[in-house]
This record gives sequence, structure tokens and C-alpha cells, in this order.
Amino acid sequence: MTNTSLYGLSIEQIYNTLNLEKKFQAKQIYQWLIKGVTDFNLMSNISKNERERLINEYQSPISSKVIDTQIDESGATKLAIELYDGAIIESVMLVDKNERKTACLSSQVGCAMGCKFCRTGTMGLIRNLTASEIIEQFVHLRKLGNITHIVYMGMGEPLANLAPVLESIRFFHSEDAFFISLRRITISTCGIVSGINKITEQNLNVKLAVSLVSAENPLRSKIMPINDTFNLQQLKKSLLHYQNKGGSRFTLEYCMLSGVNCNLNAAKKLASFTNGLDAVVNLIPWNPAAELPWTTPSTEEINTFTKYLDEFHINYARRYTRGRSVNGACGQLATKNNKKEN
Ligand code: SF4
Repeated sequence: MTNTSLYGLSIEQIYNTLNLEKKFQAKQIYQWLIKGVTDFNLMSNISKNERERLINEYQSPISSKVIDTQIDESGATKLAIELYDGAIIESVMLVDKNERKTACLSSQVGCAMGCKFCRTGTMGLIRNLTASEIIEQFVHLRKLGNITHIVYMGMGEPLANLAPVLESIRFFHSEDAFFISLRRITISTCGIVSGINKITEQNLNVKLAVSLVSAENPLRSKIMPINDTFNLQQLKKSLLHYQNKGGSRFTLEYCMLSGVNCNLNAAKKLASFTNGLDAVVNLIPWNPAAELPWTTPSTEEINTFTKYLDEFHINYARRYTRGRSVNGACGQLATKNNKKEN
């Protein structure tokens, strides 16, 4: 694969990158790219000679390719995408009961955060993705259907690769590009307080989701090592700041692990943590991964836990797992054949 990508570039940058003779050619190429045409040869309003030159000199306007597609019964589709250097990432198109389609994008190859319930966490960090590589995932997924929402919830921690993530968001939101409302874009983090504070300072209008898993420091540290750097008190302080600065209602992702975090004590701690926060606790039964030691809670265990949450007046939603049978559900993304850099 070529490592040239035109996605994320302005018309002016395309003009300069491709050494085009006329500015209007850059505009034509930009418009083809937004339509999802990723082959110079198919850009029919560019002269044949120019198309041939572009193919000879740059091969392709896109730097990644889909190497595998898996679809599950809910319509969730997982793509394995090979990047220019041979690294492989996964991206998922989720379809909800109202047929709303959401692109779940990766921000890194692997992840350094090491959350114990997550397959990506077992890979370690291979490298960060560029803004172009993030945008290209959306371009590949959009060939499957009309995607209206984006979540940065695939492989990697978006707040650990913030600049390219923000650059990709600007492109997704741009009126000349995909024009996706910021309110339909969600950044999901394991709780990097410094990153949440940056989002607050920049007054981004995107939605925020924070992976909580436990509202008790010792247990959360055991499952999510980030808690040793930013503990629950620091996390809550930054969420209150986000909220006080006008940030919209956010989600606390709660991955339910049988026998671990779905009991009365966990509900009490959760009540105390959520007190004063304008948040919805999103209950996600753990998605099985053979190499990890957890068990998915039974329906009975989940029902008992939600009864406790009701008693404590905790605002929660039960999430029904989509994409699980293709390992495309939350925490299930991981790829082999990626070499870790020393
Ligand atoms: S849950 Fe997110 S932050 Fe944690 S290891 Fe997995 S990808 Fe990384």
C-alpha cells in the first residue's frame, strides 16, 4: 500500500500534494473522495492522461484496504483494515433497532491502557493512527450503508492520541466533507483526566463516554490500571468541571463482570460516585473473549443488580450487545500479525 492519503486534506493541500496543474482539478478530486471514490481511474471528470499520471506517481488516494468483512445477525459488520505499513486495525458498523448506523472507529493500533476486560488491552500499543487513517475507516464503513453517528470506541484510547482524533472530528463535521453533527460524535475514554480537561477547555460539543467498571478505587485499579494515575476522585472532579462548563449529559460505561462488580456494595459505591453527575450508567454485560478470565453475568444477576440501582435512584440504561458473534462488540476488538515497535 501507498502511505499517501488524501483524506483529511484541504483542496489546497490536495493541489500541492499531487502537483496538479489547475486548482479546479483538486476540487474535483476532493469531491470524488467525499463520495467514497477511492480509485483515480474512476474519477471520470479528470483527463485520462492526468489519471494515468496520478496512478503512476501516487497509486491511490487512500492508504488502507479492507482485508476481511464479518457480519452478524444484528447487521453489525466488522472490517479488518490493513494500513500502509501492514498493521491491522478493526472498525465496526453497528445497526440499532431503528436501523440507525454508527461507525465505531479505532484511534490506535493496539492500546497501552491494559484494561483487563478488553481484548485490545492484551495487545499493548503498536502505534498511533493518523487523522487520515481514522477518516479512511469511516470511508470504508460508509460503503456498507448511510452512517449518521460516530463513536471513538474501537481499538485504542482516543484521548491518548488526541490531536489526530480532533483533526478527524473537524473533517467529519466539515460542511464540505461529511457534515456530521458534533452531537452525533462520541469520544470514549478509560478516564484520562488530563484529556477530559482538554476537551472541556476546548469547549468541543462532542459527546463523552467514560469507562467506569467500578466506583471503588481498589477494584477499579485492579481492572483498569489508569485508575492508579487518575483515581475516581480526580475523575469525578474533571467530570463535574466538564458538566459545569456546559458539557452535555455523558455516559458512564459499566462493563458487568459476573461475581465482581454487580452486587449490592458495587451499587452503593456507584450511587455515591454518580451523585451530582448528570450521567447515564450504560450497563454492558461483559463480551466474552477466550483469553480473558471473566464471566458474563446471567440475566438473573443483571436483574438483581438493576433492582439495587433502582433502589438507589441511579439513572441507567441496559445495553443489548450487538456485534458479539463477530467479536465486534465493546472490548472484543483485537488483531494478530501486528508487530510491536521497540
Ligand atoms: S477498554 Fe479502551 S482504553 Fe481500555 S484497553 Fe481497551 S481499548 Fe484500551
